Amino acid sequence: MINHNLKIYNTLTRTTEKFEPIHIGHVGMYVCGPTVYNNAHLGNARTFVSFDVVFRYLQHLGYKVRYVRNITDAGHLENDADEGEDKISKKAKLEQLEPMEIVQRYTIDFHHVMDSFNALPPSIEPTATGHIIEQIEMTKQIMANGFAYESNGTIYFDVEKYAKDNNYTALTGRNLDDLLNGTRELGGQFDKRGRLDFALWIKAKPEHIMRWPSPWGEGFPGWHLECSAMSKKYLGNHFDIHGGGMDLAPTHHTNEIAQNVACNHIKNPINYWMHTNMLTVNGQKMSKSLGNSFLPFELFSGSHHLLEKAYSPMTVRFFMLQAHYRSTLDFSNEALQAAEKGFARLMNAMKLLDDLKSSTTSTSDISELKTKVYAAMDDDFNTPITLAHLFEGVRIINSVNDGKESITEVDKSELVKLMSSMVFDVLGLKEENAVNTDKIDGLMNMILEVRTDAKTRRDFSTSDLIRDKLKEIGFEIKDGKEGTSYTIL
Ligand SMILES: [Zn+2]
Repeated sequence: MINHNLKIYNTLTRTTEKFEPIHIGHVGMYVCGPTVYNNAHLGNARTFVSFDVVFRYLQHLGYKVRYVRNITDAGHLENDADEGEDKISKKAKLEQLEPMEIVQRYTIDFHHVMDSFNALPPSIEPTATGHIIEQIEMTKQIMANGFAYESNGTIYFDVEKYAKDNNYTALTGRNLDDLLNGTRELGGQFDKRGRLDFALWIKAKPEHIMRWPSPWGEGFPGWHLECSAMSKKYLGNHFDIHGGGMDLAPTHHTNEIAQNVACNHIKNPINYWMHTNMLTVNGQKMSKSLGNSFLPFELFSGSHHLLEKAYSPMTVRFFMLQAHYRSTLDFSNEALQAAEKGFARLMNAMKLLDDLKSSTTSTSDISELKTKVYAAMDDDFNTPITLAHLFEGVRIINSVNDGKESITEVDKSELVKLMSSMVFDVLGLKEENAVNTDKIDGLMNMILEVRTDAKTRRDFSTSDLIRDKLKEIGFEIKDGKEGTSYTIL
């Protein structure tokens, strides 16, 4: 089944457009991956969780998706405008390690964090250092096409020349003259002709560790170039979706488009540009200098002074999905604790789902619910609205379980299909501690037996004590006609 109602907000056109893939049934998607010089960042995690949902939903709709997300292991300078040291080289010097030891350590950390968030691995995860030849070839082609020049061993992209026939600022809609006449001086970069020119290939200074031979001497590739070279290699000169954090749009993505156009003679190399929004903490921008930026592992362990407790990866994933990817996401203990409760409620309902008793009539319209859920996902992957509708499903499950509402066998199987495919396959949520649920269940049944026994002996102080103590730990028990059941709060 390929759904034909999917609409995507395209940063390039600033409108929500119907999604039409270039090749029927196939989607090519490129997302800018992390620069692996530090522990995985929460902002990055949010971006990759968002694109994980995009990847999962496209596959759910029946598309064959080739999802490419790179690892930046060279060429990303401290300042995006070709200034400062290479981030990985700098960290390597600081820790007295080989740059590739830094890359290995933080790639593993990044994968670990993405696994914790239950994000699917991309189809291809190429590295910049694994594609030096492709980047040199692309630089040569851009030079041959007249859009780049050599200056003292460094190759610069000529933005002003490119902008004569192309809309350089198409992605952001900024005014080119304003950028060209900006007050910022060229800084130390006297080698380049125009202030907007950026390096495709950078000459390595004697102390620079990561260096490769090229036709222009020893050097290393520019950060923007790697994404153009790797997307071209694996997705072709024209592909469907390119994504990343919105902070990448003004420089990195703008330059990627310019490189693709200048190299490949194609007017519009990418059909849909998708950007995720930033994180805030208690309404303030999350930033290292404000001391309010925490890492995924700090959230999972509760080891940051702003966090009242630890939050599990699925609580955080659920929390992220409660905001649309194009909205800012505001972290606060209050919101995280509400998400924790909401997630537990959702998982409890999922556990009841299979064992619901069916009746001859349904009190709820399941096909209408299904229509609403798909309409929300089709509306630019609107996960908060999707979740709101799924909670209507939770309400139905609980009411049927309590005997207040009824459901037919046919509707029940529709509800099971809808809830499990959306919650698990598309939103990528999963039961946590799944390994231990059987053991917890066994233990709880034993405790409940002891309590029932106490009740039959009219030892109500013991049975009440068990109930109250369990509630303190986070188990709520309910006495019903068919025995006592429990839910994890
Ligand atoms: Zn990129």
